[in-house]
Amino acid sequence: MTYLQATFEDKLELNSSFTKYSFELKNPHYLPFKAGQFVKIKISDNLEQEYFIFSSPDIDHGFEILIDQTVTGLSVDFFTNLSFGSVIDFTGPSGDFVIDYDSDAELILIGTGVGVSPLYSMVQELLQVKRIEKKITLFWGLDNLDQLFMTEDWQDLIESFPNFSFHPVMANALPEWSLCRGNVLDCLNVHEINADSDFYICTDNETGEKIKNLCLTNGVKEDQLRIINYT
Ligand SMILES: Cc1cc2nc3c(=O)[nH]c(=O)nc-3n(C[C@H](O)[C@H](O)[C@H](O)COP(=O)(O)OP(=O)(O)OC[C@H]3O[C@@H](n4cnc5c(N)ncnc54)[C@H](O)[C@@H]3O)c2cc1C
Repeated sequence: MTYLQATFEDKLELNSSFTKYSFELKNPHYLPFKAGQFVKIKISDNLEQEYFIFSSPDIDHGFEILIDQTVTGLSVDFFTNLSFGSVIDFTGPSGDFVIDYDSDAELILIGTGVGVSPLYSMVQELLQVKRIEKKITLFWGLDNLDQLFMTEDWQDLIESFPNFSFHPVMANALPEWSLCRGNVLDCLNVHEINADSDFYICTDNETGEKIKNLCLTNGVKEDQLRIINYT
């Protein structure tokens, strides 16, 4: 197996659930990728794990990933113990969970937890890089408000791009939370969803299946659904 190499540059603890890790490419120095793709990182001699690229594709000299630290396992420990300047081995970018730019349909992006990672990269690509003007809606299911991060960045996107709507959904919201509450399916049930849209869904296995069934029941055609799971 031939690995690519990147140097661990920076880490930002966004909250107690999510940490952003930044890597600078070492070999090669540039890595073109499409929003929605993932890299597979070597954790040990017999373990490699997939991680979505969180950063925008217009930054091709490095990449960022978002780690869900609430998961306990070897890989999460690997990242926690990584020292600055150390070099990681990886392969990729991989995956066909990427925007179909040949379609004129509006876009509905749905993620839960760390599943927002490829969707955030897609939003950057669609709005900042390609300046796409069609309607784009992002639903992001979280457990509680403490898990929400980059609130200013989301606000900037909403203000800068009138075609972009953002719906964070809290499963365990405090009474003062005025936006969507419950799980992401509850939120989809409340909002009027255009069944002719293209759907990009990144969740755990079980939620992905439920969202798929909800979409199909509401007249969405199977080929408009693109689903990738992180569990
Ligand atoms: C295509 C793909 C992309 C992925 N991208 C990301 C990413 O961007 N960021 C990220 O943190 N993880 C991502 N994952 C999950 C990641 O590959 C690891 O499984 C995760 O970091 C846990 O690894 P571990 O070795 O520590 O524990 P493991 O032994 O692999 O996992 C422990 C258990 O937790 C489950 N699990 C893993 N992640 C979650 C989660 N977020 N919520 C609930 N259960 C979970 C696993 O299915 C397993 O049952 C992705 C997985 C896939 C398949």
